[in-house]
Amino acid sequence: MRVDCEGCAGCCIDWHALAPDVEEAEQTGDRQPLDDATNFVPLERDEIRAMLDAGHGDALRPRLWTLPEEEEEADAAAAESTNEPTAPIEIDGYRLAGVNGRPVFYVGLRKPPKPVAPAGREDPAWLPTCTFLDPDTLQCRIHDTELYPNACAAYPGFNLLLDQQTECERVEASGGGERLLDDEPPSDPPGVGLGPQALGAKLFAHPDPGALAGTIERIADGEGTRDDRRSFVTTAAASAPGTLAVSEGWRERAGVAFDDQSSWVSDAIEEWEELAGGEADPTLGDRVEEDRGAPETPGWD
Ligand code: SF4
Repeated sequence: MRVDCEGCAGCCIDWHALAPDVEEAEQTGDRQPLDDATNFVPLERDEIRAMLDAGHGDALRPRLWTLPEEEEEADAAAAESTNEPTAPIEIDGYRLAGVNGRPVFYVGLRKPPKPVAPAGREDPAWLPTCTFLDPDTLQCRIHDTELYPNACAAYPGFNLLLDQQTECERVEASGGGERLLDDEPPSDPPGVGLGPQALGAKLFAHPDPGALAGTIERIADGEGTRDDRRSFVTTAAASAPGTLAVSEGWRERAGVAFDDQSSWVSDAIEEWEELAGGEADPTLGDRVEEDRGAPETPGWD
């Protein structure tokens, strides 16, 4: 696998507003995300803990999924016939995918609006952009650090392994030049795979669905609050791989770390949200992020 990332960042930015005819792969299929973001980066439990330790809890957010109508009916029928707790979970009027009555979710990276010109475009625009992307160089501020997510290091390896279209190819299709230079799947992709071993390691289950009334509607409306995110992030950090167990001790410690807003991330996201819609100048990243302590990126020379 070989890719040309210079001046692209197509997998770090939700750029589809610039190319409405290009398929949004995450919004197709049977199970739809509750939110409408694209290019979601799922983190593993230990990566979530590392983000919290670094004070970057504000960079994290959950993703849940809704069930299609037919599947709801099939699950309800199965629950009735077997008397097992597999009935769909309904909160705020949404039928959610779950395990044993608990809604399942990923934790990934937030995308505040930033002024960016992805995929070789000339005019910068305000687009949902990964918290860790330098809007000027279009490089990752945590590349080559211990915080760099496996999902990013592997991309687009899993797509190639599963024979799914890559974001590189979507960028190419929208006129972004040649990005996927070699489509041979990697022989040893990092990170947790699919299947049961993902539970508690990459796919998490919220232990208290009754506490999520109101939260689910806000997330669906793109209006999730800090407390909403905290509930999911601390659950994920306190989960045990291969099980549904959630450690209350770990959850309390994760809550303390989440509440530590000392990193550059919290105030930078807040300021990007205030600035959105103004002049789209990618060099604003120097003031908004680097002046607050964000690491610089080297550029493409
Ligand atoms: S962590 Fe880095 S590579 Fe991954 S989406 Fe964010 S900016 Fe891109």
